[in-house]
Amino acid sequence: MSQVKQQVNETILQCKDITVAFGGFVAINNFSFSLKYNELHFIIGPNGAGKTTFLDVLCGKTKMVKGDIRFKNDEKITNLKEYEIVRKGIGRKFQAPSIFPNLTVLENLELAMKQDKRLLAILRAKKKEQEEKKIYEMLELIGLTKEEDVEAKSLSHGQKQWLEIGMVMMQEPDLLLLDEPIAGMTEEEEHKTGELLLKLKEKCTVVVVEHDMDFVRQYAEKVTVMHGGQLLCDGKMEQVQRNERVMEVYLGRKGDEKYATATTG
Ligand code: ADP
Ligand code: MG
Repeated sequence: MSQVKQQVNETILQCKDITVAFGGFVAINNFSFSLKYNELHFIIGPNGAGKTTFLDVLCGKTKMVKGDIRFKNDEKITNLKEYEIVRKGIGRKFQAPSIFPNLTVLENLELAMKQDKRLLAILRAKKKEQEEKKIYEMLELIGLTKEEDVEAKSLSHGQKQWLEIGMVMMQEPDLLLLDEPIAGMTEEEEHKTGELLLKLKEKCTVVVVEHDMDFVRQYAEKVTVMHGGQLLCDGKMEQVQRNERVMEVYLGRKGDEKYATATTG
């Protein structure tokens, strides 16, 4: 992780001219996007804008017609397989839950842990100690220390989401992708999730696709707005919020101050 910190202000991800088609329908059209290390970057845009499809492309789930993706040291990851992309350091939390309901919180994290084979052969006891430390640190980070022995199925909706984020983080990704992480959460859970995002960006670069504009305004540093599969604008939240084209897309007319509280959904 210290390696990540040293590279602040350097580019971790560079996507050029990403184009995706489903049959004849172009879902993403010449979309370019770049990210710096340890950025907390939100992607917003109306339904159907192509946000989820873009995350699908980044994690190798959906193939591009055209485009180039460079990760970390300018390494080309275009069209790698999903498991290869995970190994390169891109972790994705999907909207549908993927926790093991009958296992405890602790067991779920244990299963998700990145295995270090070098240590296995040398010093088992030492390895176990290190793994436990890692799991307990993760429990604390995601706010589930008290729930370590609770079966995952008994957690609240919000707690399940945090556990899943913890499971992806056990793989120590350099880039974490989250699609609408606060959907269905209570206000209190939303707040806790926002605080979690701020902690996560200390450990890796975070991309969040989000609908809720109030939430985005509260936590976003950088925002990219997608519309009709294309880049509408990007920049700091204040700049994006004042952009006339963004206001038009969200409200169908110009200069409406209510934009500030409008949602994208
Ligand atoms: P967003 O996440 O911004 O709401 P999506 O990326 O889910 O948008 O979808 C972008 C567009 O691509 C939509 O018009 C959607 O209907 C279409 N689309 C997404 N996935 C598929 C698919 N597997 N097959 C056909 N069309 C798809
Ligand atoms: Mg979506």
